[in-house]
Amino acid sequence: MTAPPILIAGGGLAGTALGWALHERGVPFLIVDPNEAGTCSKIAAGLVTPITGKRVKPSWRVGELLPVALALYRRVEMLLGGEFYHERPLVRLFKEAHEVEWWRGRADEPGLDQWVDAAAPLVDPALVHSEFGGFVQRQAGWLDTAAYLEASRAFFENISAWRQGVIAEEEVDASENGVLWQGEDFSHVVFCRGAEQRTGSRFFSWLKFDCARGVIASLKVNLAEVRIINRGCWLLPHTAGHWRAGSTYEFDLTTPMETSIADLHRKLSLLLRIPFEMSETQAGIRPIIKHRQLVLGRHPAHPRVCVFNGLGSKGVLRAPYFAKMLAEHLLDDKPLEPVVDVRAND
Ligand SMILES: Cc1cc2nc3c(=O)[nH]c(=O)nc-3n(C[C@H](O)[C@H](O)[C@H](O)COP(=O)(O)OP(=O)(O)OC[C@H]3O[C@@H](n4cnc5c(N)ncnc54)[C@H](O)[C@@H]3O)c2cc1C
Repeated sequence: MTAPPILIAGGGLAGTALGWALHERGVPFLIVDPNEAGTCSKIAAGLVTPITGKRVKPSWRVGELLPVALALYRRVEMLLGGEFYHERPLVRLFKEAHEVEWWRGRADEPGLDQWVDAAAPLVDPALVHSEFGGFVQRQAGWLDTAAYLEASRAFFENISAWRQGVIAEEEVDASENGVLWQGEDFSHVVFCRGAEQRTGSRFFSWLKFDCARGVIASLKVNLAEVRIINRGCWLLPHTAGHWRAGSTYEFDLTTPMETSIADLHRKLSLLLRIPFEMSETQAGIRPIIKHRQLVLGRHPAHPRVCVFNGLGSKGVLRAPYFAKMLAEHLLDDKPLEPVVDVRAND
């Protein structure tokens, strides 16, 4: 007898990566998602930025995570046809003197040169503020998240592994042997609900979320550049003549949208010396868990009920690696690393 499928609540970057990890192992699964427009994963810029943050340092475990992420996106492209992941150099410009100092302090760190193209030119200083200098990152890029998610959804639906709907946690009947939901049997349920998990969760109310809203916009600007530019905010040459710009970080989710849009406009004027026009602003809530990079694994009291959440602002980079880790945990009993195991947060 074949094992019942794994039920996945949510088809964002987390649930979709888990779907692929299971599909590639030949394990049946069902993603249930309301398929709403404008979710966090669908509006995300999809950037992968190896060196990041105010302290200008390599992103957490980027050397391990990036090859796994790229390999998954390339395999999905091969299988489905299309190009979802676009490798693009990224020009990181410093906006304050202390960033220059941080960077100088790191210049001799072993392995840093794999992310830096020291010979590449910066930007035209007449068009872009670059008075503190900067550097060009290699191995950066962006995932067209909306296209990747839609193509994955269509493929999964075709093999009866995706269904439009919502999984109310109260409707999940979890026992030692499996999970019953709406009269169907599953081996496990994995909640990949992103920031929606933060309120009213029956199983995971003890997780402490500290989510940040982000605003992103389309941009009209007359700039002949094919690279991503970052100086306090980023500019992404998206499709021919069309730019995206972002993003803001508001931990107070009650901040009015107008304030966030004005903040993004202000950041862009500190980046661009030339006129620009913002339009089509969108907002999403990044799922961030306090003091944790992310969490995954089994509920301490209900081992058939699992979670995969907290991807923060790095869903593209992190989802494939940790989806694979979760799949190996559920299928092969491979232990989770304590740093991500949800039980360590209990
Ligand atoms: C403005 C902005 C810019 C960003 N830019 C980047 C970037 O450049 N690079 C990057 O890597 N990351 C970026 N991120 C972060 C990235 O979007 C997140 O890390 C990622 O989308 C989180 O994915 P997720 O699947 O956990 O959550 P979500 O995308 O929120 O997906 C959760 C899904 O679950 C569904 N759901 C919720 N409840 C239920 C239920 N009960 N039953 C069934 N389904 C349910 C939701 O409808 C949704 O589809 C950005 C985020 C924002 C807001």
